Amino acid sequence: MPAPNIETIVSLAKRRGFVFPSSEVYGGLGSAWDYGPLGVELCNNVKQSWWRWLVYERDDIEGIDSSIILNRLVWKYSGHEATFHDPLVDCRECKSRMRADKLEGYFPEGDHSSGFDANERLRGGLVKCANCGSTNLTDERYFNMMFRTTLGAAADEDDPAALAYLRPETAQGIFINFLNVQTAMRRKVPFGIAQVGKSFRNEITPGNFILRTREFEQMEMEYFVKPDAEHLKLVDEWVELYVDWFKGLGIDGSNLKLHEVPQEELAHYSKRTVDIMYRYFPERPEEERQWEELMGIAYRTDFDLRSHSSKPVDEEGNRVNPDSTDDLSYFDEPTKTRFYPHVIEPAAGVNRTVLAVLMDAYSERTNDKGETRVILKLSPQLAPIKAAILPLAKNKPEIVGMAKAIKRSLQPTLRAVYDDTGGIGKLYARQDEIGTPLCVTVDHQSLEDEAVTVRDRDTWEQERVKVSDLAEHLQRRLQP
Ligand code: ATP
Repeated sequence: MPAPNIETIVSLAKRRGFVFPSSEVYGGLGSAWDYGPLGVELCNNVKQSWWRWLVYERDDIEGIDSSIILNRLVWKYSGHEATFHDPLVDCRECKSRMRADKLEGYFPEGDHSSGFDANERLRGGLVKCANCGSTNLTDERYFNMMFRTTLGAAADEDDPAALAYLRPETAQGIFINFLNVQTAMRRKVPFGIAQVGKSFRNEITPGNFILRTREFEQMEMEYFVKPDAEHLKLVDEWVELYVDWFKGLGIDGSNLKLHEVPQEELAHYSKRTVDIMYRYFPERPEEERQWEELMGIAYRTDFDLRSHSSKPVDEEGNRVNPDSTDDLSYFDEPTKTRFYPHVIEPAAGVNRTVLAVLMDAYSERTNDKGETRVILKLSPQLAPIKAAILPLAKNKPEIVGMAKAIKRSLQPTLRAVYDDTGGIGKLYARQDEIGTPLCVTVDHQSLEDEAVTVRDRDTWEQERVKVSDLAEHLQRRLQP
């Protein structure tokens, strides 16, 4: 049973130290959230799982970490300055400002693909304000979503020479480093470059907790292949690999579905995009409205490497990019040909993955006393804490000492905590609610037989284990 809605997770996340509303002492900041002690661990575990899977376990992917602020020309030639915008409308009744293409009635009935005139629909009263339901909306206009900033002390706000952007995607940092990585690591196509890091988009309507924020984290990978590779098939292959990865993180397949993005909605660089959607809104009666994008897999052709290169010319023989000082083409030794590699890009969000994982892990169970308990059935690899060491009596120094010693001995190899801030029932309930797979209880008997009780989060079953075997026992049970 996954969480019934996002609100359930918002409240659990705040209560248990996963995610807090940002800047709360000043009334919050709409779209910003801070990750607490358990949230930062969960995010790190998601990112590590991804990095291990792509960079360590495969032999054809390298990792990088590029700057957040890049030369402005990167965003000129990537096409973002001209086209990275969303349609925006205002409601004349309640004065809210919204992203038009997310409103009910914006697209013709069940069909996003046919050509249509959005302003005609807006003027015809077919589109509804998300806030008050009015159809008295303005025409749409486009708004560039890149955050602007100025570099250097002397710059005044509108100085074009000082204008810079916070990156709206991590991908461009990979493209401009393609040749650096390829030559330094002596890579041959096909190979990939992965990067995880913050991206920024001045979203018109952020919301739904960490699903859509203005500052977020992406895990992107650009997979470079030959121009004559089977690109569309490769998209399907990566879709399948990612669906399996999400399932490996504990997400149920029935809460994932694929969405083939219609031609008319493709980003300027894409020839094909398949989105993997997650059921973030199970409470909505219409099945169609339960889903939102978790990640996208796009075939970006050779658009980016070509755009950033110095050599390509237009029909009149003029350089398409007169600012670039390098050519990002690749020489293929076996065929003695030079080309711009084509790219398959799986782009996933850390925050949306974390939200999906939390929603899917959520469950409730009634105990013998008829009380409902929340159990977060996180996969052990993602659980912020792997084992909690609990003393049965906190006023007994020998038991406390033994429990603390066990915690210290386990910590080098797995994330363990010691907790004595309540009765054992309460301590178990607290660990269940934050997803700790195993609890280790030290009791009076332990002082005599050098054994402890290991309790399972999901079954609540208990097992007696010798302290000398404990580390190995826990490691084994934490294996996926
Ligand atoms: P959407 O249509 O939801 O705005 P997108 O198609 O523009 O998303 P991409 O450019 O494909 O998103 O970015 C790749 C991934 O980055 C998304 O699938 C999502 O997981 C994440 N992402 C994008 N924008 C946001 C955001 N504002 N907040 C949180 N995550 C985001």
